[in-house]
Amino acid sequence: MELELEKLNLPSDNERPFVIAGPCSAETEEQVMDTARQLALKGCHNFRAGVWKPRTKPGGFEGNGEKALPWMKQVKEETHMLIATEVATPEHVELALKYDMDILWIGARTTANPFAMQALADAMKGVDVPVFVKNPVNPDLELWIGALQRLNQAGVKRLGAIHRGFSSYEQKIYRNAPMWQIPIELHRRIPELPIISDPSHIGGRRELIAPLCQQAMDLGFDGLIVESHCDPDKAWSDAKQQVTPDVLDYILSLLIIRDEHVTTEGIQQLRKQIDDLDNQLMDLLAKRMQVCRQIGEYKKEHNMTVLQASRYNEILEKRGVQGTLTGMAAEFVAKVFESIHEESVRQQIEIVNK
Ligand code: PEP
Ligand code: MN
Repeated sequence: MELELEKLNLPSDNERPFVIAGPCSAETEEQVMDTARQLALKGCHNFRAGVWKPRTKPGGFEGNGEKALPWMKQVKEETHMLIATEVATPEHVELALKYDMDILWIGARTTANPFAMQALADAMKGVDVPVFVKNPVNPDLELWIGALQRLNQAGVKRLGAIHRGFSSYEQKIYRNAPMWQIPIELHRRIPELPIISDPSHIGGRRELIAPLCQQAMDLGFDGLIVESHCDPDKAWSDAKQQVTPDVLDYILSLLIIRDEHVTTEGIQQLRKQIDDLDNQLMDLLAKRMQVCRQIGEYKKEHNMTVLQASRYNEILEKRGVQGTLTGMAAEFVAKVFESIHEESVRQQIEIVNK
């Protein structure tokens, strides 16, 4: 299903990307106003703050709820920034709109739940407000697209996506693994949908905000949503990943924005070379599969198992070393050969069972 989209039409500066900034949570009137005033002075046009906070375990700060909405409205009246908050239930939608919220976003935990998404879509029928949909917590592109479709079917046309990374069980550098290929594939599937990046929730640590912002810009994202707090260390939620408005301004001022539409002669030449190399790669792969099928015939004749673990390990090890010597990451080489091997095994199983 195609999405029927309209431009978001949200304010940004010419020399800077589109940015939504503000604290993880609206904690107190003073914290909200202090942060907002500082951000407005730095030229920020879109202010975020969580009013309802989804927490992994009970007992944490779950947001001030409706009590915080007049503070948000005050931000809008005093600074003229647009205001944005997360909604997770129809009641949140109704209350947010009652207090003139300009932008809504759907949190990662909500996107992952089709029942909640449908209830939100029903609540947004006939409402013309821009809505950003965060990726679901699990790396499932279809679920993300499904959530966008539900809102779109309800008539929400000013849609955007927020890439906030994906949770996993392992120890890791990032709080939420970026898995850039997923938002990139979303862009390929729905090119006219704006996608912004959330370096705060991807990184989970202040030091990672700047490099993640730059990476998002290099990949052609349409903007950023960054957590900024007047006193980050004292934040009631996500303290480690928030930066002061000053620091955020500095980070944004250092960003290099590249133009994806400028292509020079030189790059065309190089692209030709890449096409040529890709052709050779495909050719080699096809030849390799052909040999694998021959091995399949042999295994069938001699009643051997398709999977020979020691041989597989030998291949992975040999190519891993070779890859490292030519400057490729060992994990990358492992992934490539795992995929090739998987396809070889599939083809051999077909032959053995013929
Ligand atoms: C947030 O933006 O503060 C938030 C709760 O994000 P996420 O839904 O990405 O976890
Ligand atoms: Mn947060």
